[in-house]
Amino acid sequence: MVSQDTIVAISTPVGRGGLGVVRLSGSQAIEIATRLIKLPQLPLETQRATLGLFAPEESGRPLDQVVVICFRAPHSYTSEDVVEISCHGAPVILRHLEECCLAHGARAAEPGEFTLRAFLNGRIDLTQAEAVRDLIESQTLYQARVAAQQLEGSVSARLKPFKQVMLELIARLEAGIDFAEDDVSVIEWKEILTQIDRIRAELQKLVEGYEYGRIVREGMTLAVVGRPNVGKSSLFNRLLNEERAIVSPIPGTTRDTVSETANLGGIPLRIVDTAGIRETLDDIEKIGVERTFSAIADSDLRLMVVDASEPWAGGESSLLAKLLPLGSLLIALNKSDLPSNEEFGLSPPHDGSASAALKGGPASVVRTSALTGEGIHELKEKILALAAPGRDVGPEGEFITNLRHQQMIKDSIAGLAKARLAAENRTPHEMLLLDLYDALRPLDLITGATYADDILGIIFSTFCVGK
Ligand code: GDP
Repeated sequence: MVSQDTIVAISTPVGRGGLGVVRLSGSQAIEIATRLIKLPQLPLETQRATLGLFAPEESGRPLDQVVVICFRAPHSYTSEDVVEISCHGAPVILRHLEECCLAHGARAAEPGEFTLRAFLNGRIDLTQAEAVRDLIESQTLYQARVAAQQLEGSVSARLKPFKQVMLELIARLEAGIDFAEDDVSVIEWKEILTQIDRIRAELQKLVEGYEYGRIVREGMTLAVVGRPNVGKSSLFNRLLNEERAIVSPIPGTTRDTVSETANLGGIPLRIVDTAGIRETLDDIEKIGVERTFSAIADSDLRLMVVDASEPWAGGESSLLAKLLPLGSLLIALNKSDLPSNEEFGLSPPHDGSASAALKGGPASVVRTSALTGEGIHELKEKILALAAPGRDVGPEGEFITNLRHQQMIKDSIAGLAKARLAAENRTPHEMLLLDLYDALRPLDLITGATYADDILGIIFSTFCVGK
């Protein structure tokens, strides 16, 4: 049940600014606003900017000139009466206005409560509510676009067709049981299996697209590793300069490594320069699982930088041996502007370790010059390809970015697998239906509930039973 309280909050960020907005939502919103703001005429016009004076009753003296916009239920963000009061962005004024609203009967909104109300009032579904949060938190335009698509309901829209097929299947099975005497044709086992497989394949695609979706939403970390002086910091700076660095730090990042976040193809890429913690290859040998190495291991992928103008050092082989088991690894043969050491050339190397490492191994190799910029574009492409293999999953709205959604879809697939087994074993329809409902319920948790009426609706509209 939606609470009857009227809630209030300062909706603009903390701090000083040109403007600051106080938002009220609930049945008393308009009354509270009109008691605090002197307005040229009443009642407040809907969806019109009205100039007013914030003059708290006690003093009667105006504190600020404000603009009031009123949205009447249900045509508002929350579906309730909403009033937005734009003041000058002085924290003291905003706080005082908020306090006056509280004194007049409003309650301080909990975090996310305006959006929660929009959800509880049925104006947006859960995926859209989650998208509001993602949109606000986005660090790159690409992330914002993905969130905006989801705010438009793209996740639900993507799921709806499969859910519809599932509902139709359920409806036909239910009809066969409940309205047997109405001569409803019994659905063939073969068709049941075909439908289940069809839905399952589509849901599976969504689950697979998630890995990329997660990266879009959360970004990824790249650790730059290598011997001193090979050009780690220079490459780090190249990657940051070419791509606009993102200023705001990602919360929870370790402070003791030098890291910056760049925008790589719309994905926030946190680059950790291990030179910032001044390790040497020998140290890496010694420290084992010490700080440097855990930063390296914790990252999503690693970039090992090698100075291609110098001989391949013994320590590099052992570093490589440590890095390979950690997963995604890129090797930059840096200083490609200088004459290359023959080991890295096309001719077969004498010591073998460089070629063994670089040829046919699981690592991807790029020639770069942090000095001239050569190979940097290719390096970025390789980083993206390695970190986000699902990059070609399609337009912004076509993949899921949320772990909860992925889990729900997996649960649904598990229900379908049970249903398939039941169908293969020619289990009675009543039992098969239980499995199908198990597959439907998790999808409901993403798109919103299916009601018995929805299924009945399909039964009645498609089968004309009980006319
Ligand atoms: P780090 O110790 O691995 O971080 O290496 P730095 O980035 O500090 O670079 C060490 C030295 O190599 C500096 O003098 C850089 O200017 C130089 N350097 C880095 N990358 C290149 C490159 O691609 N070509 C050339 N010629 N010099 C480079």
